[in-house]
Amino acid sequence: MIFIPEKITRTIKLGNLIVGGNFPVLIETMSRVSLLHKKEFLQEYTEIEQAGADILRVAVKSAEEVEAFRLIKNNVSLPVIADIHKDPRLGVLSAQQGFSMVRVNPGNTHINGLKEIASASVDYNVAVRVGLNSGSLALRNRDLVSIIEQELMKTLDIFETAGQKNLMVSAKDSQVENNIIINEKISSLMDYPLHIGLTEAGLGLPGMVKSSMSIGYLLFRGIGNTIRVSLTDGPIKEIEVAKAILNNIRKKVKGINLISCPGCSRMRIDVLKLATLVNELIGDLQENYTLAVMGCEINGPGEAKGADIGLFGSPEGIVVSIKGVFQGIKTQDEALKWLSSLLKEKPQ
Ligand code: SF4
Repeated sequence: MIFIPEKITRTIKLGNLIVGGNFPVLIETMSRVSLLHKKEFLQEYTEIEQAGADILRVAVKSAEEVEAFRLIKNNVSLPVIADIHKDPRLGVLSAQQGFSMVRVNPGNTHINGLKEIASASVDYNVAVRVGLNSGSLALRNRDLVSIIEQELMKTLDIFETAGQKNLMVSAKDSQVENNIIINEKISSLMDYPLHIGLTEAGLGLPGMVKSSMSIGYLLFRGIGNTIRVSLTDGPIKEIEVAKAILNNIRKKVKGINLISCPGCSRMRIDVLKLATLVNELIGDLQENYTLAVMGCEINGPGEAKGADIGLFGSPEGIVVSIKGVFQGIKTQDEALKWLSSLLKEKPQ
């Protein structure tokens, strides 16, 4: 087994959450609705919370949006990050009006503006994320990693001098390799919790693959405390993909790990159908075990051996097992009922 050391960062407070250290990696997504549209915003917020996000980021573009947040903040329980670009006045207002964190972009915010935000964030005990995107840095012809390093160090110094202790950092690129190199470098330089993701990942499948490669690689290296999958889609899809990534980093997340075979001509059952039904049964259960759905009795038992619960096809029906021990042969309906009651009992 390859030993991959964990990067243990310091911990910070983000609303009612602790981020960093050995705490689980958290899922962030971003609202697509302006705070000015209260009803639509709260509807989207409810869907985001139900889908399993831990943190919500919203674009703050005007003082009116900060005021709109002040009026609805008691209706939201997730920590909300005010995403500020260019206008430091909005960062100061956001710190004053109850956001859990202000995200600043030193690539497009003047140094005096950063100082104002730093001071307000300390006064109002609000966390700060210093978040760089390579796209918002002017000096594209110089080495990207060293530019990002310089910008981050300069900005962190401003916030540290102001006494801000609840600091996070992010630096994103739209290329998988660049993104990994940048984050490995940052992680080696500091122990602030890191927010990771791949910016402008794009549409559908290509976006999911790029995000999974980048975020997954970094998490396996022990780098990353919060993640966002940035897709040209909606927040719910972003959360689904983020959860799927985290499900493969077993040390980091709670939740059932469903494994299923791809199926081949040995299949005794419709694996896709059964795995889909089992996935629906699992829902959002947070127990930390592995459940296997396999197509045949030839390879199924062997490949499902390490699973806590196994369902695999056989000429007689669906064989069910617990930790590799045979429990019986059932029809599909019976197997699903058996699984449903087992999940309620929370098998150890
Ligand atoms: S478990 Fe059986 S059906 Fe599934 S891929 Fe392997 S051999 Fe084929």
